Amino acid sequence: MFGLMQDRPLLVSSLIEYAASIHGDTEVVSRLADGIHRSSWRTIHTRAKQLAKALLALGVKPGDRVATLAWNSHRHLELYYAVSGIGAVLHTVNPRLFPEQLTYIINHAEDSLLLLDAMFLPLVSKLRPHLSTVKQFVLLADEAATTPAREQLPGLLSYETLVAGQDAEFVWPVFDENTAASLCYTSGTTGNPKGVLYSHRSTLLHALASCMKDILALSSRECVLLIVPMFHANGWGVPYSAAMAGAKLVFPGAALDGASVCELLRGEGCTLSMGVPTVWLGMLAHLEKHPEARPTQLRRGLIGGSAAARSLIARLESELSMEVIHLWGMTEMSPVGTGALRPRRWEAMTSDQQLDLKVKQGRVMWGVEMKIVDDNGRELPHDGKAFGLVKVRGPWIAKSYFKAEGGTIIDEDGFFSTGDVATIDSEGFMQITDRAKDVIKSGGEWISSIDLENAALAHPAVQEAAVIGIAHPTWQERPLLLAQLKPGLTATRDELMEVLTQKVAKWWLPDEILFVSELPHTATGKLNKLKLRELYRDHKLPT
Ligand code: ADP
Repeated sequence: MFGLMQDRPLLVSSLIEYAASIHGDTEVVSRLADGIHRSSWRTIHTRAKQLAKALLALGVKPGDRVATLAWNSHRHLELYYAVSGIGAVLHTVNPRLFPEQLTYIINHAEDSLLLLDAMFLPLVSKLRPHLSTVKQFVLLADEAATTPAREQLPGLLSYETLVAGQDAEFVWPVFDENTAASLCYTSGTTGNPKGVLYSHRSTLLHALASCMKDILALSSRECVLLIVPMFHANGWGVPYSAAMAGAKLVFPGAALDGASVCELLRGEGCTLSMGVPTVWLGMLAHLEKHPEARPTQLRRGLIGGSAAARSLIARLESELSMEVIHLWGMTEMSPVGTGALRPRRWEAMTSDQQLDLKVKQGRVMWGVEMKIVDDNGRELPHDGKAFGLVKVRGPWIAKSYFKAEGGTIIDEDGFFSTGDVATIDSEGFMQITDRAKDVIKSGGEWISSIDLENAALAHPAVQEAAVIGIAHPTWQERPLLLAQLKPGLTATRDELMEVLTQKVAKWWLPDEILFVSELPHTATGKLNKLKLRELYRDHKLPT
């Protein structure tokens, strides 16, 4: 038809080409085991082309899966572009998973090549006999560091030697935008982990939309500390969106403790950072003891992956004079779905009123359609009260798992069921009340474990709280609250109950509060409710 637009495929390689040519001098900084490493978008592109040629020379073909076991660094970024750029699939593996899960995932993905950070050598040498498809192993280091490591992993190749062995004369191939670009497994709290396969098209559309002001608001004026691991849902897409926006990118490597994070934020002049609540809590704890480490240019902080408590948002905003934006999403959604940046209307509100809205996970970004439904699949009203299962549809949302594991995952209208339970208010602000499997079913009504946990965190001595449902003869289930206190601080059951009474309905109050020295977490740093339910399966609540 005459007059139509050009049909150029949306390819990952276009991002790095753009960043190198327009923002070539903008820095990409990494903390490595032996110090700070400085690169730039131009150098990342040059080395990604050298690496692409090296991968082809090693026999990597379009569609092959190439695995990484690595922290965030410039080398990991080069792999993001080199692997997808030649039409192969980058499989970022979460090294915090159990060895059996790692073996399962790598074999299931049929990875042909595995690139690893030096600290994972002992792990990989243990896994090696069980990895049936991996033909070669590459250490993300130079030859000097690789030579001694060959004692643990014979035949190990050096990343730097591979890169140095090629020139950068390379033109990125052009192919169908619906080709697979990367693969991430969800931690699979039930059954085996499942793979989510992202396409070049979905990756670019997600990057484009997430740059918007109400989500990441990325631009060439920003300096981003990417705390979210690059193996966790593609680092929330930031390795792509930062290239699209031409932002300075800073990688923390393996050092995610409060002191190291503050040092990088301050030293590199970071304006923006993102991570799960635990990371921000660690940062605040460090600043309590070392106020001199306060980051000076940090203006915005994105929190997602688990619910950001009101107290956490309030402290970050008041103590660091920054704006907190609550995000929600999941691996199956590339991952970002919603963001809670304040609309103009909030300017007339007090900061307390704003906080009440900031604890919500926000509004969908363009491209994501969302609805909440009841047990019978009937759509619920957007009144901020009715809560039901969240369903989503859009061009960066999975339509099935890798190798069709788990069968059909979308309904007849194309909506994917997230497993989260939420309310949506009349302005479209969504608030997660629970994961469907964590919600406490008491006498036919639902109690939100997240709301109770957040209420408990309002007590200044509470470090972390977890609420699980315990079987009850009359009510089916009743809440048990497990609280871990901050070191050196104390709280009593009655004090905690008093705090909760001010925040939740009386029938929501936990039947019992237990103080514990530690709460279990999953490989992605979330409270491990499955484990807690196992531990307390036979627990008897007081009558
Ligand atoms: P995993 O389950 O492997 O950790 P995901 O990162 O994909 O993998 O987890 C997505 C889930 O995390 C969501 O379905 C939701 O339950 C939870 N989540 C993400 N962001 C938030 C948030 N801001 N508030 C509450 N829960 C969140």
